[in-house]
Amino acid sequence: MLPDVARAWEHLQRVAQDLFARYGYEPVYTPLFEHTEVFTRGIGEATDIVSKEMYTFEDKAGRSITLRPEGTASVVRAALEHNLTANGAQAKLYYSGPMFRYERPQKGRMRQFWQIGIEVLGAAEPTADAEVITVLWRYFEALGIPAENMRLLLNSMGDEACRPAYRDGIAAFIRSHGSELCEECNRRADTNPLRAFDCKNPACRAVMATAPLLREELCGDCAAHYTAVKAHLDALGIPYEEDSSLVRGLDYYTRTVFEIQVEAGLGSQNAIGGGGRYDRLMEAYDGPPTPGLGFALGFERTLLAMQAAGVEIPAPPRAEVFVARVDDSVTAEVFALAQRLRDAGIAAELDHQARSLKSQFKQADRLGARFVVVLGPDELAAGEVTLRDMSSKEEKRVALDAAPAAVAAALG
Ligand code: AMP
Repeated sequence: MLPDVARAWEHLQRVAQDLFARYGYEPVYTPLFEHTEVFTRGIGEATDIVSKEMYTFEDKAGRSITLRPEGTASVVRAALEHNLTANGAQAKLYYSGPMFRYERPQKGRMRQFWQIGIEVLGAAEPTADAEVITVLWRYFEALGIPAENMRLLLNSMGDEACRPAYRDGIAAFIRSHGSELCEECNRRADTNPLRAFDCKNPACRAVMATAPLLREELCGDCAAHYTAVKAHLDALGIPYEEDSSLVRGLDYYTRTVFEIQVEAGLGSQNAIGGGGRYDRLMEAYDGPPTPGLGFALGFERTLLAMQAAGVEIPAPPRAEVFVARVDDSVTAEVFALAQRLRDAGIAAELDHQARSLKSQFKQADRLGARFVVVLGPDELAAGEVTLRDMSSKEEKRVALDAAPAAVAAALG
């Protein structure tokens, strides 16, 4: 990532950090690779990620390690290892960093991509679901993606009480429509039937649109939870659409799942972020039952969505002031003055290439400097510098000692 993109990245990070802090989330950093088991256990063997997309290697000691394909498994592994949710404690965490999936690259789909995500562990209440969804929505809003460009899709995947029967029902539905569905969907009847809802094949989509809806077969507790989540979102004015085909690719989801898609700029990879509840995930690591939920969003796609919406990312000038030297006799003084300006909190730049005064002015312009401080033998003899305003072209002399204060005052 070259500076233009890296600067945008840092903007996305800053906006996330500010927003997430307001909701009480704390940062965590997890390793770029883990024991493969961390992902196979948590994400599930039958998922696309584990069955097809992981970068898995043997290290020198013959252990199987995997580059992390997502963040949740590692966060939950770490929370268990470090007892963050012992005795019913709640943990609110966020992470940010590269993820790796061996997918077919296309626009908005890379093999190394950047996710930022939040997780709430130990929270069973529907307010937690509504909070997590709201943070995701507000984040994209804070970046300037207009609400009308976004669709927030919402669904419930049920739990161990209602999903198994539904899963069997969908498996039977797939088998009874086997000839109309693709090979992959037929296979899914045995491995992961709900994923058939996710198939991109138009014929499969048409068939699956006629399948029974889990939303209508939820058990009482899941139905009550889902109703409460919607009521909290309604109260906050967060616009969502119920979408029973939203199943998301990971095994660990229970109850609430959600995704934000954008209409423009991304083609088929139009999901910019999504997540859900995973109340059984901690148990997959032999931990105690611990409810949890979270979301992950991708920076690459978020940037594409921002570009499509015409959002400009603020680019601070690389220098507020440029310290120009008239000739080599004052190099040491110019260098020292630049340092005094920087120590005073001012973005100051100078020329390390001993170029002419004229090219130094050009460089100051390119860097966006509002002022140039000129120092030459004449100024030095008088104990002064020339302060030039780059837009009005006005110049004045100020005392060398007082230059940082004068520049600070001029910058306002
Ligand atoms: P997931 O972990 O698959 O739910 O993805 C969450 C978000 O991460 C998506 O909405 C995308 O913004 C982003 N994402 C997932 N996979 C990729 C990828 N291969 N390339 C770029 N972004 C991705």
